[in-house]
Amino acid sequence: MSWDYELAVIGAGPAGMEAALAASEHGVPTVMVDNRPASGGQFYMPLPATFNKASKSSVDKDGNFLRSLLDGQPVKQYKDTLVWGIFPEGEGWKVAVYGPAGPEAFNVRYLVLAAGAYDTPVPFPGWTLPGVMTAGGAQIMVKNQRVVPGKKALVSGSGPLILAVAANMISAGMRVEAVMEGARLFPRVLGHAYAAWGQWHRMAEGVEYLTTLVKAGTPYKLGWSVIEARGEERVEEVVVARMGANWKPLPGSEKTLAVDTLVIGYGMTPNTGLSRLIECRHEYDRRRGGWVPMRDETLQTSLPGVYVAGDMAGIGGAELARLEGRLSGLAVAVASGHLERGTAGELYGQMQRGLKSQRRFAGMLGALFTPGQGLFSLANDDTLVCRCEEITLGEVREAVAAGARTLTEVKMITRTGMGNCQGRMCERSVAHALVDALAAEQVDFEGIGNYKVRPPLHPLPVSVLAEAAED
Ligand SMILES: Cc1cc2nc3c(=O)[nH]c(=O)nc-3n(C[C@H](O)[C@H](O)[C@H](O)COP(=O)(O)OP(=O)(O)OC[C@H]3O[C@@H](n4cnc5c(N)ncnc54)[C@H](O)[C@@H]3O)c2cc1C
Repeated sequence: MSWDYELAVIGAGPAGMEAALAASEHGVPTVMVDNRPASGGQFYMPLPATFNKASKSSVDKDGNFLRSLLDGQPVKQYKDTLVWGIFPEGEGWKVAVYGPAGPEAFNVRYLVLAAGAYDTPVPFPGWTLPGVMTAGGAQIMVKNQRVVPGKKALVSGSGPLILAVAANMISAGMRVEAVMEGARLFPRVLGHAYAAWGQWHRMAEGVEYLTTLVKAGTPYKLGWSVIEARGEERVEEVVVARMGANWKPLPGSEKTLAVDTLVIGYGMTPNTGLSRLIECRHEYDRRRGGWVPMRDETLQTSLPGVYVAGDMAGIGGAELARLEGRLSGLAVAVASGHLERGTAGELYGQMQRGLKSQRRFAGMLGALFTPGQGLFSLANDDTLVCRCEEITLGEVREAVAAGARTLTEVKMITRTGMGNCQGRMCERSVAHALVDALAAEQVDFEGIGNYKVRPPLHPLPVSVLAEAAED
């Protein structure tokens, strides 16, 4: 069998860029595909060209440096191009893409999947009102597009990202009424202090964000969360409450705040559509964001020749994504015979310390900030849980009463997960609703499984599918 390329890297974030670089530097003919207009992913997303002169941040500089290294390698780069399907082809894979030049497909022997993660939405009364947005969305508006989403905001969520987003919004001229961190950090944080050892730049960043909040008079409240958004045409006020055990709001602690913007950031969910599509083996790890592909020490999945790197394999941040990307690229170079095992062993050895420390830090964030089940019980029977198909929590509960015991059964009865987002937005909320509804039967997340993923992964023109069917 002849291959169009030896390796396809899907996703050009920190993980994908490093994977493509490491493989190409060792002579592996490589193609890299990303559905955004420029490589960089979530973290190194470049500013629009007209803004570039103004940017002096080290993150922008690092992103530009990685892009320039890639441009110096013979890596075929598809931009603005979606991978909508991957199909077995001999001992390798056929990758089906759709981009500015139309549909295309190519054969490869090896895959590095580095599709990142997406914001985890949480349904509560009013969460679909205009003016309610996720932290990732707000960050892109403020930082990359330099547009403020409103005038007066509440930021509610969990983890360090909400601090970054709030500080950026303040610096961009918005009033942030409060930042509500749902986790109750003390005294638990003390038990994890060792994991923060060495992460001084991150600590410094956190202090910088907190200083911005203090200067703006924005309180940072621990153990509080939004529980409802209200308004006619858009959000006008929010109800917040103190969180008790397992993130259940404490009755009587509610307060109302007038805002025109609500930013929610309760962590990220690994984007595992591609690895589930080709049926890599997965495991459920709530602290790493939910379902994640299982991997060996070279980041190879249960399918030989298929590697997964970065946030797609569990939320770990940009530095871990870069290290994992490099490791997977080297692993492909070894497997394809371009790099000697001994040389690779030395290179792996040099990366171990960094990997260990980044994984320990990611583990600490997961342990401290993963929301409890109570957060996913804020919705009532009338609250939409699947926005694409407009399915309410009440309808999911009716499906359970009718006998549904797995996510797939809920999907078949109610149509949750069958809309435009193909479950990316609702799967986790529906899973929590199902586990909640089946509490008496002690069913867990592994027990209810996940949505079956089928191509196309994202909506496509029917003509593309017709052409693919003819092929
Ligand atoms: C608001 C916010 C602030 C953050 N701040 C920090 C921070 O301060 N420090 C830090 O370490 N981390 C931060 N992160 C996390 C960091 O962005 C991620 O950890 C990092 O980007 C993960 O890299 P990745 O390469 O795994 O995935 P990503 O950067 O997400 O890249 C994945 C790429 O794959 C593409 N893709 C996905 N599916 C397909 C497909 N089917 N076809 C084609 N392309 C596809 C995506 O468009 C994307 O470009 C932040 C994240 C957010 C949302």
